[in-house]
Amino acid sequence: MDSRSPLNVLVAGGGVAGLEALLALRDLAGDRVETTLLEPAAEFVFRPMATAETFGRGHVQRIEMRRLAQDAGARLVVGGLAGVNDARQVVTIDNGDELEYDALVVATGAMSEPAFRRAITWTPWGDPELFGGLRRDIEEGYAQSVAFVVPPLNAWPLPAYELALMTAWDARGMGQDDTRISVVTPERIPLELFGQAGSAALQADLDEAGVSVWTSAYVEESDDPPGFVVRPGNHQLEATHVVALPRAVGPRIPGLSCDEAGFIRVDPHGRVSGSERVWAAGDAVAFPVKQGGLAAQQADATAEAIAALSGVDIEPRPFRPVLRGMLLTGRGRSWMRSEVAGGGGTAVASRRALWWPPTKVAGRYLGPYLHAAAKTGAPSGLAVNLDLERASS
Ligand SMILES: Cc1cc2nc3c(=O)[nH]c(=O)nc-3n(C[C@H](O)[C@H](O)[C@H](O)COP(=O)(O)OP(=O)(O)OC[C@H]3O[C@@H](n4cnc5c(N)ncnc54)[C@H](O)[C@@H]3O)c2cc1C
Repeated sequence: MDSRSPLNVLVAGGGVAGLEALLALRDLAGDRVETTLLEPAAEFVFRPMATAETFGRGHVQRIEMRRLAQDAGARLVVGGLAGVNDARQVVTIDNGDELEYDALVVATGAMSEPAFRRAITWTPWGDPELFGGLRRDIEEGYAQSVAFVVPPLNAWPLPAYELALMTAWDARGMGQDDTRISVVTPERIPLELFGQAGSAALQADLDEAGVSVWTSAYVEESDDPPGFVVRPGNHQLEATHVVALPRAVGPRIPGLSCDEAGFIRVDPHGRVSGSERVWAAGDAVAFPVKQGGLAAQQADATAEAIAALSGVDIEPRPFRPVLRGMLLTGRGRSWMRSEVAGGGGTAVASRRALWWPPTKVAGRYLGPYLHAAAKTGAPSGLAVNLDLERASS
């Protein structure tokens, strides 16, 4: 590459990680990079608020992809990544066309599949009528007990607790105080990832709402008799209605090194194993926790590595996961923070925002961008550094 020409950076996927990567690159590398966003969807959909929307307690933010690319200073190509040839530094798009790159960021997210045949699988894009039917059954007294199941291989259990809490408060609001609500989870304590502090805060909310939790438990579907069995042991899951989170499935992109489940293998800077010029970030990556804040941190690490490649004088920092989660409790919000991988920091939980702006996904660039978009409907094109720890001291 001519050292004076900008680095041609292709970002595949305009979700949390892709958008964070684009905004970070513009801030860090400016004119040293020319960015292109490859994305099949017409809109960015902010899924973490989907649980709230189900209960009419919030709405899912949507931003036109065209607008988003423009704000991030990127060219938009509508299409899906179908394969990567890193030796030639080209990707294939699903229509058969090829696109060249000097650096590629794969941020295509994960797919999901139902974990059980007989349960209601809750997804943000699922049929609202399915959950609406459950709520009607509660209102009419047909749903005496509802179990929310976190299946094995689910990489983000928080929505199960949000759904359970909001369902419990909803049931009470309908005068159905006897409806029993429970969560069944493989975790040793509720929201184990957030440490003792986060778990204790959640437990207080669960107790107040009357939600019981069955921990260290795996649910299996049985055919004879038809139902669900809780392991270890052989306990029948006593519930008139079972709602399960989906299982995450990797995108398995041809040309990239993936694990057995199809998630992309990367080094601590997000560079794809065995590739020279390909990075990956977000839910598509082989990391056991799939969460928007972590997706943004992975994207920041890749952006720093690519900025260095473009000639910026920067020492790229590796991904060092810090979980920041906001839980919708059905009566308010709870904020949690914890270092995930041997960071040595303490876990914190609070009723006040632990970071600013108080978005559900704490991304350094994405947070301020979405906050501005939600407040004004017109996101500023400026990437403002997130004051991540302002309120935590
Ligand atoms: C109900 C719910 C609640 C959540 N709550 C929280 C929370 O409180 N806090 C938090 O931090 N996280 C939360 N998450 C997780 C968070 O939403 C994800 O971790 C995050 O969106 C992952 O970002 P991503 O960019 O990897 O994937 P996505 O945001 O899924 O974006 C992937 C993008 O890639 C595009 N794409 C797909 N295939 C291709 C292809 N072949 N080529 C090009 N583009 C493609 C998609 O259209 C999409 O735009 C929640 C998730 C759910 C479902």
